[in-house]
Amino acid sequence: TVEAVPETFKGFGVDVPENWNKPKLVEYQRKKINPKDVVIKNICCGLCGSDILTLKSSWGEFGRNDQVVGHEIIGHVIAVGEEVTEYKIGDRVGIGAYSSSCSDCSRCKSDNEQYCTQGVGTYNGVDPKADGYKTQGGYSSHSIAHEQFVFPIPEALSSSDAAPLMCAGLTVFSPLVRNIGYNAEGKTVGIIGIGGLGHLALQYANALGAKVVAFSRSSSKKEQALKLGAHEFIATGEDKDWTSKYADTFDFILNCASGIDGINLSDYLSTLKVQQKFVSVGLPPVKDTFEISPFSFLHHGSAFGSSLLGSKKEALEMLKISAEKGIKPLVEEIPISEAGCNEALTRCDKGDVRYRFVFTDFDKAFA
Ligand code: NDP
Ligand code: ZN
Repeated sequence: TVEAVPETFKGFGVDVPENWNKPKLVEYQRKKINPKDVVIKNICCGLCGSDILTLKSSWGEFGRNDQVVGHEIIGHVIAVGEEVTEYKIGDRVGIGAYSSSCSDCSRCKSDNEQYCTQGVGTYNGVDPKADGYKTQGGYSSHSIAHEQFVFPIPEALSSSDAAPLMCAGLTVFSPLVRNIGYNAEGKTVGIIGIGGLGHLALQYANALGAKVVAFSRSSSKKEQALKLGAHEFIATGEDKDWTSKYADTFDFILNCASGIDGINLSDYLSTLKVQQKFVSVGLPPVKDTFEISPFSFLHHGSAFGSSLLGSKKEALEMLKISAEKGIKPLVEEIPISEAGCNEALTRCDKGDVRYRFVFTDFDKAFA
């Protein structure tokens, strides 16, 4: 079957950061197929905030002059390497932000494979198991990933609804269950930044049983946030007194914001209960840093942390809960094309999306 996979794939790629929102149709040599690799023909792909930060080089340079991004990929399996056991041709599966790891270290062997020091990003990664191939993402005809990084999609979820769960969903689900557990009744959770990640975090935190408070810079998302599962909503740019209202309230705060200038970290820390955590999955441009004194942590014994994606074990649990409880993103579909990529990247960058773009109609674009 592997012989039937085309040698070149097509995608929408960017040459230089100045053209971050102007991907062009490109054709490129595919990665080699390893024994544990699964090859899929892409059906659709979500647009993650990380795609924009990568293409603008906000996290550092990207690795090629036809860089294709996208790591919320759903497709059908068209070929498998000879050692693949979990999938067969025709299965509908997803790929998130990582596509392989060493499979051998303590992290890979303890459901923390996303923290493997040899993990390979789905795009803009360098794959040591494929001669240093510089990886290409899912705004493309096909994708290849190690089976550990391929997730089976439940029938109850449509492809467009499942796509954003591959990165955004998993990235918020993992820190939520690791910090508040699967039965979070009696706990209060704050979610900051109601974008692609944040609007899913509201739903999962609610489904886990927590009391959920949404933090957004303005009140424009209030009604939707309350419908999605927030019990309370704070517009931090409009409500100057919000910190005093929430003293000693939060068991956990999850920051999903892609920028930093709208976030006063000490204000948030002041609302945690004793020895609780503020975890940022949001990753602003590398030049942006929080300026904070140890004293801001002192009186609550609080901690600041981060979290990277989630494990496959957590992905399977997330997909099960999503299918059972009807948790899904609010999606705006856009047929993939040069114009479609331009529109979606530009609008997402401006915050003009409720709450996730998903590129569709791949058959037409890559016929
Ligand atoms: P979106 O663009 O969909 O949403 C980001 C939200 O952040 C906005 O809706 C806005 O919320 C808030 N925001 C934007 N700019 C600022 C600012 N300057 N100050 C404060 N808040 C701001 O992005 P995603 O949800 O796709 O991604 C969010 C972040 O998570 C990105 O940095 C992304 O790279 C990162 N990420 C991290 C992963 C990980 O493993 N740790 C994995 C995937 C993504 P509001 O309007 O409500 O204020
Ligand atoms: Zn992502």
